[in-house]
Amino acid sequence: NADAAMYRAKELGKNNIQFYTREMNASIEEKLLLLEGLRRALEEDQFHLLYQPKVDLHTGQVFGVEALVRWQHPEHGMVGPDRFIPLAEESGLIIALGDWVLRTACAQNRAWQDAGLPPLRVSVNVSPRQFEEPQLVQRVQRALADAGLAAEWLELEVTEGVIMRDLQQAVAKMAMVKAMGASLSIDDFGTGYSSLSALKSFPISTLKIDKSFVRDLGNGGGDEAIASSIISLAHRLKLRVIAEGVETEQQRAFLCENGCDEMQGYLFSRPLPPEQLASLLSSGARPRLLTAVA
Ligand code: C2E
Ligand code: MG
Ligand code: MG
Ligand code: MG
Repeated sequence: NADAAMYRAKELGKNNIQFYTREMNASIEEKLLLLEGLRRALEEDQFHLLYQPKVDLHTGQVFGVEALVRWQHPEHGMVGPDRFIPLAEESGLIIALGDWVLRTACAQNRAWQDAGLPPLRVSVNVSPRQFEEPQLVQRVQRALADAGLAAEWLELEVTEGVIMRDLQQAVAKMAMVKAMGASLSIDDFGTGYSSLSALKSFPISTLKIDKSFVRDLGNGGGDEAIASSIISLAHRLKLRVIAEGVETEQQRAFLCENGCDEMQGYLFSRPLPPEQLASLLSSGARPRLLTAVA
């Protein structure tokens, strides 16, 4: 990259070197500013979690939720994770932020149970650096213990990239998480590059079909083949399979007909604040379209 920049600067002539450099500095400054903002946000409690229901495609039951972090910025309003997770990851702040997410999600789940809601499994996204960090297992244990939550009600979502960076170590760590009683799923499955032979050694319970393969389901493109292959692959490996980003009845119908187990997406519900999630569940809401099939 530096080489390319030099080459470009030379090509553009001397005056442009200044310009190019200034641009690069600006982006570093921007990053530092954002990072400073993120640190303050952690201290000042500007993060919160939304929870998106995961629905059993065949019974219509909500059996779990995925915790998704949001940043309520004092000036810019709500900032989505795609805008700050990469920098948190790059800077290492993800360790502290991820710990906050884990602890908050466990505590919230316990609070729902105490309020008499049917028990749910809460899924927490774990980024590569967080997963590789030596203290991960202890952090998970501590979050569960402090919340008073049984491990079976927690799931970690990791991406294929996390696992393939150091396969043996990742499998060992996954085994520790499983031994603790929590479960694991592979997020965004199909977009990474885990080998199929590695997949069979992962102590996971679920594959999540990435929403990029869900978007065009039912339109007759190649995504039907990909989605149905992932579903049968998962089942032959004795794994469950969930589709993310389900927005339309057409997509749901395809997934249901092809034996997908679970779904998550705007069709049933957007990610919700904890109170709204609780009222959705206590109202006994079922995806209206499922009753026709069941
Ligand atoms: P992900 O884990 O794959 O989460 C799924 C994303 O799809 C979420 O975006 C969710 O809001 C969105 N989504 C759900 N249903 C639909 C739908 O029907 N249609 C569409 N178009 N989108 C849908 P979000 O919340 O913006 O999160 C983006 C990514 O940021 C997540 O992807 C995850 O990789 C990361 N992330 C979110 N929260 C955390 C966190 O607490 N820790 C870490 N490490 N990463 C997080
Ligand atoms: Mg996820
Ligand atoms: Mg995903
Ligand atoms: Mg994703």
